[in-house]
Amino acid sequence: MTPSAATLIWFAGVIGWYIIRHPFARKANKIGVSKSLIDWRESTLLAIASLGLFLVPALYGLTGFPASLNRPFIAAVAWFGLVPLCGSLWLFRRSHVDLGRNWSISLEVRKHHTLVKTGVYRQIRHPMYSSFLLLGLSQMLLLPNWLAGASGLIGATLLIVFRVGREEHMMLQVIGDEYRAYRATTKRLIPWVL
Ligand code: SAH
Repeated sequence: MTPSAATLIWFAGVIGWYIIRHPFARKANKIGVSKSLIDWRESTLLAIASLGLFLVPALYGLTGFPASLNRPFIAAVAWFGLVPLCGSLWLFRRSHVDLGRNWSISLEVRKHHTLVKTGVYRQIRHPMYSSFLLLGLSQMLLLPNWLAGASGLIGATLLIVFRVGREEHMMLQVIGDEYRAYRATTKRLIPWVL
């Protein structure tokens, strides 16, 4: 594999993400919202995650900036990046299928919101955020640049650290005991671990 091929694979992965999300987002967005916690903090977190996972690596892929932070390209490392990339696409799709009409890009509760605890939600409460981490990991392995490589993991981690607590609090307020019981038997991001 060459550096250009690795960059093209990264672009293909991001296009794959968009193709997966678009139909689910269109359907879910037609359903009304009964509670929203979207504020400047949430919008900033979303912007930081988008910057790290999409804009910084896209700028690098298109212009080579910042060349001063390039690292040596190791073909075997880039090949290995395909593993988390495929895992991310799979998990991203599965979590959209399972969450269905309850999906939202930020902290929102839909009308007639139901708690999903089947499919990939059986073991972990935030599989979609796990798929962000996998995408960030593949970005780091595919792109031979310290900034464009690491920015996805940094952005996704910040989003998760500062959003998950609030999201779970919101779900507890809306769903109550059923969410409390669900939380007691599942992990957040990695089955049986974290
Ligand atoms: N954090 C989840 C969902 C991301 S989408 C994940 O990573 O897979 C964000 C929205 O999903 C939240 O605003 C919340 O309303 C909703 N949500 C989160 N967990 C849910 C669950 N188990 N069942 C139903 N809706 C959920």
